[in-house]
Amino acid sequence: MEHIVIIGNGIAGITCARHVRKNSDKRISVISAESDYFFSRTALMYVYMGHMKWEHLKPYEDWFWEKNRIELRQDWVEKIDFQQKILYFSSEESLEYDKLVIATGSVYNKFGWEGQDLKGVQGLISKQDLELLEENTQNCKKAVIIGGGLIGVELAEMLRTRNIEVTFLIREKAFWQNILPLQDAKMISAHVRSHGVDLRHETQLDKILGDEKGHVRAVITESGEEIECQLVGLCAGVRPNIDFIKKSALETERGILVDEYLRTNIKDVYAIGDCAQLREPQSNRNSIEAVWYTGRMMGETLAQSLTGNLIKYKPGNWFNSAKFFDIEYQTYGKVSANPGEGEIHFHWQHKDHTKAITIAFDASDNKFLGINTFGIRMRHEVFDRWLNENRSVQYVLQHLREANFDPEFYDGYEKEIFRSFKENLQES
Ligand SMILES: Cc1cc2nc3c(=O)[nH]c(=O)nc-3n(C[C@H](O)[C@H](O)[C@H](O)COP(=O)(O)OP(=O)(O)OC[C@H]3O[C@@H](n4cnc5c(N)ncnc54)[C@H](O)[C@@H]3O)c2cc1C
Repeated sequence: MEHIVIIGNGIAGITCARHVRKNSDKRISVISAESDYFFSRTALMYVYMGHMKWEHLKPYEDWFWEKNRIELRQDWVEKIDFQQKILYFSSEESLEYDKLVIATGSVYNKFGWEGQDLKGVQGLISKQDLELLEENTQNCKKAVIIGGGLIGVELAEMLRTRNIEVTFLIREKAFWQNILPLQDAKMISAHVRSHGVDLRHETQLDKILGDEKGHVRAVITESGEEIECQLVGLCAGVRPNIDFIKKSALETERGILVDEYLRTNIKDVYAIGDCAQLREPQSNRNSIEAVWYTGRMMGETLAQSLTGNLIKYKPGNWFNSAKFFDIEYQTYGKVSANPGEGEIHFHWQHKDHTKAITIAFDASDNKFLGINTFGIRMRHEVFDRWLNENRSVQYVLQHLREANFDPEFYDGYEKEIFRSFKENLQES
């Protein structure tokens, strides 16, 4: 019987395993020493904050895996012999495969800062990182977070629930401004600050200082300021977790290079999720997308191909969601952080500064390009349809109510949004 081996029990690997099982009787093994069972990485923060227990992060009951004949193996893969099709583990055991799926996720960036390996300096990706954070924040009063991405803001929220003072250093002019248009980014910056976080824009880390016991005691910024702290959160982005196969015949760039069928350059070896890099991404999509939905879609697609129904990975329109303290964020389609000449933005913001919409449309023909929403929950399937139907921005505004999750709530703002849109356009 063909043996499919999947390295990684995250959303990409597990989705692939589940769908291979749905469609076939093949032998399936999933490898990871991170946790006994698959868990929702996006919800790690809630365990630290006490909103959830670890068990709540497991979407499936523990019996699920045996019942579905998905063999879980707790080990780390150290080396792969692609010619003989054998994996070598840190336990010194080995395993043969017929088809191999690499789904090893991301690791957090370390940019070679002085002091980056001191005790109390860490990122947040794995279960082990969460456990380390528990340990590192036992007697922590002050923390510094480096880098203003989605994990950084989550870490800030987590630490604030334990009354730890947080200084948050970001390079940009406002929070996540490499992704969000400036007005959106500024609103989120103000919101983060309203939660007692000392958010510093345009501030970069120079080095991290330790005490005589090798524990962090302060950071120094590029402008020479010293900020005392007992914890440093390294949240300046993530990169594909591929160091263990870097010196092999597998073609890599930033990630493991794959074609539209998620195949690598080596026969019978595939890569999916955060660690995969598409050679030719679809327009408006990135070659590496370290997000939950992408991992899931890649897992589903590859499972089809592995069970006899060869299909291309076609992710369709971009979408994503996140939360910045109390403000839910959703994005559909493309809203550029710095729109060029061809893209116009319409921005509406409620006076309480916790709700906003930015709509992007094409300057030449008014075609709707994408939307960012903050504090207003919208329906994915509706925007997806409008994007596919090439609707105009006028159409989208006139029908915005249909896309709203909570029409009653929306009724309060519809007129205001529409009026604001008209005024905006007259001004531009
Ligand atoms: C704190 C946090 C919050 C996030 N929030 C969001 C969010 O709100 N929305 C969103 O879209 N995305 C979010 N993400 C990103 C999202 O979680 C990832 O994109 C997603 O989990 C990637 O899935 P994956 O299956 O590719 O990899 P992972 O989930 O990282 O799984 C990789 C697996 O591979 C295993 N592994 C790695 N190396 C080896 C090896 N050598 N041998 C054996 N096993 C190995 C790991 O142990 C792990 O089991 C968040 C991430 C973090 C860390």
